[in-house]
Amino acid sequence: MLKDLVKDVVVIGGGTSGWVAAVAAARNGADVLLVEEGSCLGGTMTAGLVLGLCSLRHQGVKTNKKFSQQEISYADEQVVYGIAQEFVDRMVAVGAAYGKQGKATVRVLFDPEIAKWVIDQMVLEAGVNVLLCTKAYQAVMENSRVTGVRLKNGLGLMDVKAKVTIDCTGDGDIAVSAGAAYEVGRPTDNLTQPLSIYFQIGGVNIDRTLKVMKENIDAYGSDYVEALLEARSKGLPLTLLGFRRQMEEALKNGDFPLPYGIKQVNPKTHFGIARPIYKNGKIRYEITSHNIDMAYYVNAIDTFQLTKATIAMRDVAVRMAEFYRKYIPGYEDSYLLQTASMVGVRETRRITGDYILKYEDVIQGQTFTDAVGRNGSVIDIHDIDGGEKPINLSEVGGQGWYHVPYRILLPRNIEGLLIAGRCVSSDYLANGSIRQQAGCMVTGQAAGVAAAIAAQGGISPREVNVEELQKRLVLQGVLI
Ligand SMILES: Cc1cc2nc3c(=O)[nH]c(=O)nc-3n(C[C@H](O)[C@H](O)[C@H](O)COP(=O)(O)OP(=O)(O)OC[C@H]3O[C@@H](n4cnc5c(N)ncnc54)[C@H](O)[C@@H]3O)c2cc1C
Repeated sequence: MLKDLVKDVVVIGGGTSGWVAAVAAARNGADVLLVEEGSCLGGTMTAGLVLGLCSLRHQGVKTNKKFSQQEISYADEQVVYGIAQEFVDRMVAVGAAYGKQGKATVRVLFDPEIAKWVIDQMVLEAGVNVLLCTKAYQAVMENSRVTGVRLKNGLGLMDVKAKVTIDCTGDGDIAVSAGAAYEVGRPTDNLTQPLSIYFQIGGVNIDRTLKVMKENIDAYGSDYVEALLEARSKGLPLTLLGFRRQMEEALKNGDFPLPYGIKQVNPKTHFGIARPIYKNGKIRYEITSHNIDMAYYVNAIDTFQLTKATIAMRDVAVRMAEFYRKYIPGYEDSYLLQTASMVGVRETRRITGDYILKYEDVIQGQTFTDAVGRNGSVIDIHDIDGGEKPINLSEVGGQGWYHVPYRILLPRNIEGLLIAGRCVSSDYLANGSIRQQAGCMVTGQAAGVAAAIAAQGGISPREVNVEELQKRLVLQGVLI
């Protein structure tokens, strides 16, 4: 066993919520260690290639127009600022995110490769100590209080002793090892949403794709094709859908891959979405990013199940790229450029906190006195039962945003520990909203500031004065 490390705050998981939590804690005076098992920070945003940050702005999806304009729209109210907006600004400044300084589109299209570097810079500038390639596997406890975490890396085993621990693992691994209660999946059967591996196809001739669509305009819909042509002529983001005929032909020929875990392809959902990517200040129409539901009925906490599904999903990605090459105009000379090194897990555990964020809170735009931020992301639930139904998207109601209460970051009956990211305390449907990247960043910033206050005051996060927390968050750019 190596010598113990001693810190004010340890953040476990350097993904979407974790790097933000670490920056926030360090900027508020804490000595912070950020522990990440992968070799880069950003998690699902970077290693997962999920390159559309939703939603710093209220996400309207009720009309097709709103849905298809998410990457360019500034129309609805922006509800998330803070470190999330700072990240967008830093990315825009180096040509790595589509948009303008100081405000975000509904879905910020960004370059995951440069995001890794921008996050590194922001974390180092804040004075965070980073430990990559290190797995945290167990909370160290004194009665019901977490006093640190046991880590394992190339050097061996070591404990980090910390006044406050923040679990940003996505799965709530550390909270569960500390005895936290949790729920998984749909209440009726605990099944979780399908998994995906984002992939990118290079060598695309999108002008040929659009030309063929224009020649067959009735088959694709004139409004849709006109919108695509206009976006292309202005260098704007666009979304390719609607190759139903090619998909049906490929299905007949046995050329369309079957997602893992089901017996039948569902043409309505399994084509997925293809979008040109953004790099160095331009939409790169020659490369498209693909998001398809690829594996069903997988409990991603079970590593045996996850391994099988991941190998199968990579096979689906390779075969989807073949399908595109063979059937989609403009893809004749294309190739599979990359698959995400991190598998896309939409949901696993939801840790039970002092309050459980509810569907009604989201749908009614609920406000809370212990608010630590806002969120306006839709409830985004992918069909669990094999993709028979399209993705269920429900907009946030009321004023278009809801408050994120501090209590959803506090695991019930456990001291010394905060949670942030997709495992925060929420019911199944509400999690479909808070799990989006903006929600994860809001919870990360709040947890980081709260941890710093608790560490400095020698108190547990549960004892933090919420008014002081809110005051600091507002001073640091958070909208409450
Ligand atoms: C396929 C897919 C598509 C999506 N599409 C969108 C979208 O278009 N827009 C949007 O806003 N959101 C989208 N989301 C949701 C969103 O991206 C994620 O929910 C969010 O990024 C999760 O953030 P997180 O901080 O909870 O976890 P992550 O970003 O996954 O970070 C968790 C980190 O913890 C590390 N870790 C885990 N366990 C340990 C451990 N024991 N020790 C050390 N490190 C550990 C992991 O390596 C990882 O880096 C999508 C999600 C998926 C899966």
